[in-house]
Amino acid sequence: MTAISLGIPTVPTRLAERRKSRQIQVGTVAVGGDAPVSVQSMTTTRTSDIGATLQQIAELTASGCQIVRVACPTQDDADALAVIARKSSIPVIADIHFQPKYVFAAIDAGCAAVRVNPGNIKQFDDKVKEIAKAASDARTPIRIGVNAGSLDARLLKKYGRATPEALVESALWEASLFEEHGFRDIKISVKHNDPVIMVEAYRQLAAQCDYPLHLGVTEAGPAFQGTIKSAVAFGALLSQGIGDTIRVSLSAPPAEEIKVGMQILESLNLRQRRLEIVSCPSCGRAQVDVYKLAEEVTAGLDGMTVPLRVAVMGCVVNGPGEAREADLGVASGNGKGQIFVKGEVIKTVPESKIVETLIEEALKIAEQMEKDGVASGEPSVAIAG
Ligand code: SF4
Repeated sequence: MTAISLGIPTVPTRLAERRKSRQIQVGTVAVGGDAPVSVQSMTTTRTSDIGATLQQIAELTASGCQIVRVACPTQDDADALAVIARKSSIPVIADIHFQPKYVFAAIDAGCAAVRVNPGNIKQFDDKVKEIAKAASDARTPIRIGVNAGSLDARLLKKYGRATPEALVESALWEASLFEEHGFRDIKISVKHNDPVIMVEAYRQLAAQCDYPLHLGVTEAGPAFQGTIKSAVAFGALLSQGIGDTIRVSLSAPPAEEIKVGMQILESLNLRQRRLEIVSCPSCGRAQVDVYKLAEEVTAGLDGMTVPLRVAVMGCVVNGPGEAREADLGVASGNGKGQIFVKGEVIKTVPESKIVETLIEEALKIAEQMEKDGVASGEPSVAIAG
């Protein structure tokens, strides 16, 4: 039967179809093709300190990290890779600069992938045949990771600086060396610290190859600036379907990178939304301290793993509307809060009881969601005023 349009516009859930990329397998995580966009980070410990590195990987895993990269600048680090790769519960990628011999060590150690940087691993070019064979035999993918700060000197001379064209040419040149040996188990990144150049580089790259792309704004800066830069750049690309795995680079603990990365994906509906707090910015009409309320509710629900949406609104203008749209919400006024569950007012409580009531109701809804087998994630909370 043909559906009759009643003129009601449909609401898109995604902004664009994903670009069709080849799929590679990074350990247990598929990257590219129709695999969900994954979130990754990098440890900050000395890799040779196996205990500290595994501890940080465990923290990253707990925060939702799906793939982790470890630096490998010395033989001691290379020697640690086998234990780390075996004991980590998420795939481990070895990050290799300058020393081709560590690429072989990482493959032998059972790393899920190896990252090489064409800009500072030039001796590597005449070893591509051997590396392609070793990687192919072990089914280890290679990430060609071009970085503006270490662009191949030949291209720097040709383009004068790290332009999008230079970054892309560097990556595709390196890929072509592997392709000559029939190796295409590759993903690519072309990172720059300027989101405008980075976005343009990835756009050009996406149009010129079908390799899965690892998105990153390199050296994005401290947490606030880096979060904004990454959200803007990743948003511009992911909203066009470009990007298969992401790494937010912050001068902050790596678990923060995961939080930001996951929030970016959730905001674009590229990942199951978890706890979502819809809270108003407050204004002269607010009859309750919205900031405090939103913070207390967020803190109280920290760690929830179901997709709960909680609305915290400061007054009755938008409050009831937003609160009704959420799984749970409060609309405040006259020293009281109307508590909504699934669109129905279930009770009105004094202002002093709003937080505890919301948390109590959220836990009940979360329990029911878990019983009903709602995909794990975190709940979403909206607070209106
Ligand atoms: S919900 Fe009310 S308090 Fe909050 S911003 Fe809107 S009008 Fe202001």
